[in-house]
Amino acid sequence: MMMTTFAYPERVRNELRFREITVVKSDYFSGFQRIVFGGEALAGFSSHGFDDHIKLFFPTPGQPFTAPDVTDAGIIWPGDARPPSRDYTPLYDEKTRQLTLDFWVHDGGVASAWAVNARTGDTLFIGGPRGSLVVPLAYRWQLYVCDESGLPALRRRLEALRDAGVKAECRAIVSITNDACKGYLAHLPEATIDWVIGHDMAVVEQQLQAIDWPTEDYFVWITGEGKRAKSLADRFTGHLDPQLVRTVAYWHA
Ligand SMILES: Cc1cc2nc3c(=O)[nH]c(=O)nc-3n(C[C@H](O)[C@H](O)[C@H](O)COP(=O)(O)OP(=O)(O)OC[C@H]3O[C@@H](n4cnc5c(N)ncnc54)[C@H](O)[C@@H]3O)c2cc1C
Repeated sequence: MMMTTFAYPERVRNELRFREITVVKSDYFSGFQRIVFGGEALAGFSSHGFDDHIKLFFPTPGQPFTAPDVTDAGIIWPGDARPPSRDYTPLYDEKTRQLTLDFWVHDGGVASAWAVNARTGDTLFIGGPRGSLVVPLAYRWQLYVCDESGLPALRRRLEALRDAGVKAECRAIVSITNDACKGYLAHLPEATIDWVIGHDMAVVEQQLQAIDWPTEDYFVWITGEGKRAKSLADRFTGHLDPQLVRTVAYWHA
């Protein structure tokens, strides 16, 4: 029987809570609208997984937000009226009790437009994170593939690896629209990042094709637009342990 000397990622559940949080600050940088939120409601907020997500609920004009009932049978919205929601990566600072969300600014999005127009004092309802996948830091070989939407989670992961002094063979392949968002990870000069400009998936595929895949002690994370992420994962990870490969659709074209 083959013995693994490394741990698998572990799922943890969190109590589901809905919170109203307040915009403290908003800045644009490297293609993202960075919004810092505060508020008493953030007491007890915690997020254990680098790619956790929270749900943001966007106001419907003229309709106050009413939190749903969380029951054993599921989440029940009053009058079945569920407001529009989107998933975002929480970047939480326990010391200041502030939550930062980085919104990739793109055309035609409810969340993206809300972020661009948000002003200090505006409020937003959030729910979660409901559960986390806690991925051990110390895998010897790690690969992260994403586009702009995955950059906040990648940033969180790379900062955690740096802060823990992990000496892994770690590489990221990041598909982006143009050079502008390279600045998003500029504070992590030690990270190995291959930027693929113009979302050229053929180039991403070539880079994956050239990899000498490890046989153990690895972790692979593939996110991005749903069909692209699935196609990459189907093509390249079939021979890997599914518990060490995480593929998530971050948005749909
Ligand atoms: C677990 C998880 C964590 C996420 N974390 C973040 C995060 O921290 N920051 C972040 O910016 N996004 C993040 N996303 C992605 C984000 O939820 C989606 O991009 C979402 O669709 C954006 O909502 P919107 O209202 O702005 O656009 P939508 O109203 O959903 O879409 C409007 C149009 O924009 C297109 N579109 C949506 N997203 C993108 C995109 N990323 N690039 C190009 N076109 C797009 C759609 O296809 C559609 O045509 C995350 C997603 C998941 C699943």
